[in-house]
Amino acid sequence: MSFTHETEGSEMEREASRFSEQQKKPLLAFTPEELGPVFEQGPKICVACMDDGIDIPEGMKGDRNAGSYIMAGEDRATLVSKLRKRGVSEITAHANCGAAGIAYRRDHPNEHDVSQETIDRYAATWSKELAADVGAEYRFISPEKMSRPPELHDASAIYVGDIKPLKNRELPKGFVVSTESAAVADILNDIRLAVDIASGSHGLGEFTADNPLKIIAVGELDRTTQEQLEKYIAAQEGRVELSLLPVPEQEAELAGV
Ligand SMILES: [Zn+2]
Repeated sequence: MSFTHETEGSEMEREASRFSEQQKKPLLAFTPEELGPVFEQGPKICVACMDDGIDIPEGMKGDRNAGSYIMAGEDRATLVSKLRKRGVSEITAHANCGAAGIAYRRDHPNEHDVSQETIDRYAATWSKELAADVGAEYRFISPEKMSRPPELHDASAIYVGDIKPLKNRELPKGFVVSTESAAVADILNDIRLAVDIASGSHGLGEFTADNPLKIIAVGELDRTTQEQLEKYIAAQEGRVELSLLPVPEQEAELAGV
């Protein structure tokens, strides 16, 4: 028994140290100072899908996950109370949401040939009702308001962390998975889903060890998230790579992290 534990322990330590080595690798060749003030800031929180075509309005900070919590594992009452406590200002839904499509099929397993309009309506109803329960504003993001073509996710990265960099010409386009208030299992599910979408038929295609999809940890992740992410990345045979985007202390403070 103790032998097994030791073996597992040392294996995990080796993996952890590989992860730390990877984490030390800075993103691109820029220091945070060179990148400039690139992080979302503002006291107001906007709940939005992790979709790479969504931009959070100026002065707001995003709470990003698959379909504005439509895929989250926690029950409704817990979710509503959590979002109320955080003082969320706005909850959005958007057109052509992949997560809403999966949620619709999950909730209507016997329906076939479901139209995009039906899925858009489902996403809108979910977010509208959630916003009403939380006491937040509701907004639908139409295709014209999104910064990607309706049928294509042109992302080569997934940002994971409490705050997301603003659009910056030096940073790759990406999905965004927030970690501030989500359960670790939900964070990992969202990352898996984002990897599937980015490398699927609506994404840029198969990522390889020569051209990997970047998972970009924004600032430090908590230990459990880091360990789970480490395991997931280790199983991807190099097609997913981890980079770190450090958050300068001053910006972290302004962003309320
Ligand atoms: Zn979506």
